[in-house]
Amino acid sequence: MVEAAFQHHGINGRYINMEVPPENLADAVKGLRATGFRGFNLSMPHKVSVIPLLDGLGESAAVIGAVNCVVRRGDKLIGENTDGKGFLRSLTDITDPKGKTVVLFGAGGAARAVAVELALAGVGRFILVNRTLERGRQLLDTLVGKLKCHAELVHWTSDFSLPADTDIVINGTSIGLYDAQARLPLNVDTLQAGQIVADVVFNPPVTRLLQDATARGCKTLDGLSMLVNQGVLGVQYWTGVLPDAAVMHKALAGAMGC
Ligand code: NDP
Repeated sequence: MVEAAFQHHGINGRYINMEVPPENLADAVKGLRATGFRGFNLSMPHKVSVIPLLDGLGESAAVIGAVNCVVRRGDKLIGENTDGKGFLRSLTDITDPKGKTVVLFGAGGAARAVAVELALAGVGRFILVNRTLERGRQLLDTLVGKLKCHAELVHWTSDFSLPADTDIVINGTSIGLYDAQARLPLNVDTLQAGQIVADVVFNPPVTRLLQDATARGCKTLDGLSMLVNQGVLGVQYWTGVLPDAAVMHKALAGAMGC
């Protein structure tokens, strides 16, 4: 999808996938620095271990403590986190999160990135729901301690019932990945028409949660649009050109066969 954007906008660039074993990450970053790359993306397991190899971090990447996009600014390599920003961009197309009540399932990397970005955008209250209490507590501490948000944590041990005043529901877990029938432990009868229901899972794009939400009259947001928007931001950071998201979406959906 990145190269589709380059072609569409006449940018003379390449986006190359490289597999780097953890023990070679420092050498790889040194090489990218030396060869003048405008930036690069990172996936697991490099999102945290790359931080000491960089010259600085963007605001949300510093709070999240993970980097998925590195941008050359002058002679410095700056780490950004575009996962949460991509989600926020998709969300703000349909609503302003300011003051809203958000139920977020999960507290892993994706959930953390989404939560921090939403907090910076002024979400009113978070209800964090996670299976492992300790990981949930770490995210709660970040939201309440660092970002001064209203947030509470629920230990997820059975089907969760949404509070009646929930505005936005987000699956930030990997439940549903590669399995369109996988069920999130949620009492779907508590979904209400008009609520926004989002899923970070992008494969398949229409998860069971999103199917249930559509059936109940909710507005839905799929993980594919989040993935496209993190790519949009990457291209914008690296080239200064705001790429056409529709072109990137089409290329990504085509590559995924959906
Ligand atoms: P992590 O491993 O960091 O976190 C996984 C989260 O899912 C944890 O909170 C974990 O809970 C929870 N979880 C997994 N299985 C279950 C289960 N059976 N019951 C309850 N909770 C469960 O993964 P990531 O955060 O990196 O990725 C999560 C998803 O987000 C993946 O599907 C990934 O593909 C997607 N993603 C999408 C992006 C996009 O652009 N659309 C970008 C990045 C990721 P616990 O803490 O209890 O283990």
